[in-house]
Amino acid sequence: SNNLMAGKRGLIMGLANDKSIAWGIAKACADAGAELAFSYQGDALKKRVGPLAESLGSDIVLPCDVADEASIDALFEGLKEKWDGIDFVVHAIGFSDKSELRGRYVDTSRANFAMSMDISVYSFTAVMQRAEKMMKPGGSAVTLTYYGAERVMPHYNVMGVAKAALEASVRYLAEDLGRDGIRVNAISAGPIKTLAASGIGDFRYIMKWNELNSPLRRNVTTSDVGNSALYLLSDLGSGVTGETHHVDAGYHIVGMKAPDAPDI
Ligand code: NAD
Repeated sequence: SNNLMAGKRGLIMGLANDKSIAWGIAKACADAGAELAFSYQGDALKKRVGPLAESLGSDIVLPCDVADEASIDALFEGLKEKWDGIDFVVHAIGFSDKSELRGRYVDTSRANFAMSMDISVYSFTAVMQRAEKMMKPGGSAVTLTYYGAERVMPHYNVMGVAKAALEASVRYLAEDLGRDGIRVNAISAGPIKTLAASGIGDFRYIMKWNELNSPLRRNVTTSDVGNSALYLLSDLGSGVTGETHHVDAGYHIVGMKAPDAPDI
């Protein structure tokens, strides 16, 4: 534990359970002294998120469906009742119909394309519109992306297109909010077995491939992602904005199958 986040207050969005990337980030921030608030989607998740929040000393647990503008407004109104400002935001939210996270990208439907972009891309911008008003210079936000934004990955399909748009939106948000001293970055995480990932076709194969072929010859954990998020969310990252930072055991630098990797 350290004091990197002492005196800082942050909102964590996208916690579903203790396998969530949001949980790895929340733990790293709490361990560093941050005070946390959590949002959850739907009543079913409240039962999970409540106790997890409590275990990190947080009693601010508010509902938010990012597909609904009024719900985002209500989240920030609820937050304002508790806190006069926030120092950081974590956006760990993405969604697509899992029937389109397999097969061919070309078969993506208009309706699922629009929904995937709305929930996985626009929601971050919508959240930052509200968060900006509660943030002072030194504020920092992090969203989660994946290498499928940069290269074609099997089954990632419309989510790859959405993540490319999310990474572009991080750059535009960094410029707009940078004038007020607020930083905006993305972490491109390697594959991790979470609820959202279980919807992706052949996910076990993708994890195995990354484990065998990444420079570190392993997969990353939510605590690897949490540690890097801590750097970007704390003052350690004070000169970094608009960046997509890979936390993927180095997989994105690799050009070919590793010489020692067995066939799978
Ligand atoms: P997860 O299932 O634990 O978290 C996804 C969260 O998104 C859930 O908490 C869910 O409630 C929330 N969500 C979905 N639709 C929502 C809505 N309309 N309103 C509010 N919340 C909504 O899975 P995760 O893997 O921790 O996902 C977090 C982020 O990390 C996602 O953006 C995902 O694309 C990204 N990511 C995941 C991996 C991976 O391999 N797991 C890799 C790179 C990036």
